[in-house]
Amino acid sequence: MVKLDLEKISLPGLELERPWMIAGPCSAETEEQVLETAKQLSANGFKIFRAGIWKPRTRPGAFEGVGTIGLPWLKRVKEETGMYVGTEVANAHHVFEAIKHGIDILWVGARTTANPFAVQEIADALKGVDIPVLVKNPVNPDLELWIGALERINQAGIKKLAAIHRGFSTYDKTKYRNHPQWQIPIELKRRIPELPIICDPSHISGKSELIYEISQEAMDLSFDGLLVESHRCPEKAWSDASQQVTPDDLKAITDKIVLRKPKIGEKPRVTLDELRQEIDKLDTSVLEVLQKRMQISEAIGKYKKENDITILQTRRYDEIMNNRKAKGAKMGLSDEFLTKLFESIHEESVTRQNKIMNQ
Ligand code: PEP
Ligand code: MN
Repeated sequence: MVKLDLEKISLPGLELERPWMIAGPCSAETEEQVLETAKQLSANGFKIFRAGIWKPRTRPGAFEGVGTIGLPWLKRVKEETGMYVGTEVANAHHVFEAIKHGIDILWVGARTTANPFAVQEIADALKGVDIPVLVKNPVNPDLELWIGALERINQAGIKKLAAIHRGFSTYDKTKYRNHPQWQIPIELKRRIPELPIICDPSHISGKSELIYEISQEAMDLSFDGLLVESHRCPEKAWSDASQQVTPDDLKAITDKIVLRKPKIGEKPRVTLDELRQEIDKLDTSVLEVLQKRMQISEAIGKYKKENDITILQTRRYDEIMNNRKAKGAKMGLSDEFLTKLFESIHEESVTRQNKIMNQ
């Protein structure tokens, strides 16, 4: 268990109720775009506005945010809609500027969380400040690094702290932009049960069509809220266009979400349902991996056919068996299980290659 000194997150004059919703464009682009988007969100009942002012971009040359000139636009959002506003900070300068301009909530982005020097600089700049700070998971699936960033911010005296799950980068192309790896936020919840966790379905999905599905999954895993990218005109967004939704569409998505309550009288903790959902997700991954393996096996079958090679290459089969069993044993899997598993995989592979040979 990790012990953090936490306080319930609230905003002056606003009690946060599950699911807390933070919505707004990936980036502040122009004063008009910011205000128009905020007004539409506010008209749909959303109370907390997000907009990136400084954008950490993977490659140079992409839009890196408007910078400090965008902060007065957020101030106008507060004045004209009554919404609370939040933005991402990546260094001490960002923190000072954001605080000076009355930003209500700050978050640390995924690329920044991965860098302890940057997080420490932000933590030092936050000393004496009392506002909610949200810490995104690092881009890499490293729970300790995520917890480390939360500890640094907490040790600087920030007690209104929450985590944001935005998925993890992978080299593999999957249906997600950033793989959710739900077991990691679930483990974070187990290690720090009193820490609120919200989900960022926009950066997990990379595409607007998946926002509902991921949001519902997060709610079913007892997440506390959602941070969603919303733009008045997503196709024209200067960053992350494909994952943004209009304020009206976001309202439709949130209306569709079924909010299942944790059992009355029970403290939030990892439940049997959550563990089962985790198993369901892992089994889906197992099936996807097997499907990929069989596709490759078929490609090998074609190669063997074109080159007149026999299907069964005994030496290769022995090698596979021995190597997988040795690896599996180190992972605590029994010899009997591994033998059955790989014999069965091999058998299916041979059947498929046979079909191809004799087509
Ligand atoms: C963002 O919220 O716009 C952002 C840059 O996200 P992340 O840090 O999750 O990539
Ligand atoms: Mn974005």
